[in-house]
Amino acid sequence: MQLYNTLSAEERAELIDQAGKQRLTLSFYAYAKIEDPKKFRDNLFVAWNALDALGRIYVAHEGINAQMSVPADNFEAFRETLEVYDFMKGIRLNVAVEQDDHSFLKLTIKVRDKIVADGLNDETFDVTNKGVHLAAKDFNKILEDPNTIVVDFRNHYESEIGHFKGAITPDVETFRESLPIINEQLKDFKEDKNLVMYCTGGIRCEKASAYFKHQGFKNVFQLEGGIIQYAKQIKEEGLESKFIGKNFVFDNRLGERITDDIVSQCHQCGKPCDNHTNCANDGCHLLFIQCDECKAAMENCCSTECLEVTHLPLAEQVKLRSGKQVGNKVFRKGKSEKLAFKHSGELSDQSLATAKKTILPKKIKKVILGKAEHYYVKAQVGLFLMENNELNVGDKILIAGPTTGNQELILEKMLVNDTEAITAKPGDKVTFAIPFRVRLSDKLYKILE
Ligand SMILES: [Zn+2]
Ligand SMILES: [Zn+2]
Repeated sequence: MQLYNTLSAEERAELIDQAGKQRLTLSFYAYAKIEDPKKFRDNLFVAWNALDALGRIYVAHEGINAQMSVPADNFEAFRETLEVYDFMKGIRLNVAVEQDDHSFLKLTIKVRDKIVADGLNDETFDVTNKGVHLAAKDFNKILEDPNTIVVDFRNHYESEIGHFKGAITPDVETFRESLPIINEQLKDFKEDKNLVMYCTGGIRCEKASAYFKHQGFKNVFQLEGGIIQYAKQIKEEGLESKFIGKNFVFDNRLGERITDDIVSQCHQCGKPCDNHTNCANDGCHLLFIQCDECKAAMENCCSTECLEVTHLPLAEQVKLRSGKQVGNKVFRKGKSEKLAFKHSGELSDQSLATAKKTILPKKIKKVILGKAEHYYVKAQVGLFLMENNELNVGDKILIAGPTTGNQELILEKMLVNDTEAITAKPGDKVTFAIPFRVRLSDKLYKILE
């Protein structure tokens, strides 16, 4: 039984492109009592691997915390794998606003002591005595109350590119650091102020709200489903967004735009910019904000030192790195005195610029139909087996394969199971004229735009 990834990230990216199927980026969490997290982990891996689901997931005795990418076609089947467990019946899946088929390229499920590193000793307080959950509309309302203190429970690099207006944004690198800091900072307001908290997907507030109630705060509220759910609700309900900028996310997208406001600066030149990147030097990987011009000039590096390192022969780079641990610092470091325009701690609510509608290099939207089974050289006719979707006369199609390359054409006429027809469905054998030779297993796609 395969319980671990067998493909590299590059191989996976290639496969996802070849399959041409839309994927959904989503996240969810649940607190529960899990007897055997290792067994739970293995069962999830087998079920999700079969559905081509990818992501980063933590499981512990106390529950599950998952960030994932799931093929849209398998979404319902994926949901069913959750329904098997009582504590995940009807669970809310936070589906991202902006989609990227490459948000995750591996399925990694790790067994941990806790699903969030909060540094709390759960035995010392009642974790079920949580704050009041607020949906977007009520959250907006409470933010207008002058008696409200709103606190961002994320890290400095997250709040830097986007936050709620007027929020306290602690200058911390980890969630566990922020709890005692806030407790101290707000100690005189425990009785009469509303303590309102938010985070990315809601999970960090689940226990933090109980902790602060235990610390004596009387009126504790939390944003239900976090910024991800808030963004969805303001869109659906046509509400004003009191969140400005981008929501930092922990997948390859590194951020999801909520409003057009750019509230941060390129860490190198100071130009308004909110695109995070990781330093291209494998011995550094610093997470920082870099504009396109600086990216080009610095070759995606955070400093001239790193730039020089990347120009060394690989063997020498490896030697420089030996003994230094960087893997886990990708999100944590985020700070370096080389970055002149890095801001943390108190942040301004001022919009520095308006984001241009990003015109992505036009990626062809396509859906896979099937594969080539034969090519009749003399007649110049290809035979394809339909496996997915539907093919119609008049469709723009793409035939792709390692030898064939990418060949586009308009389908003018076809035979479906040896009879002329205008529509073909999965299971049908389709033949049509093709002016070039196709190879066995070449893929057939329909182009959607
Ligand atoms: Zn710049
Ligand atoms: Zn660097």
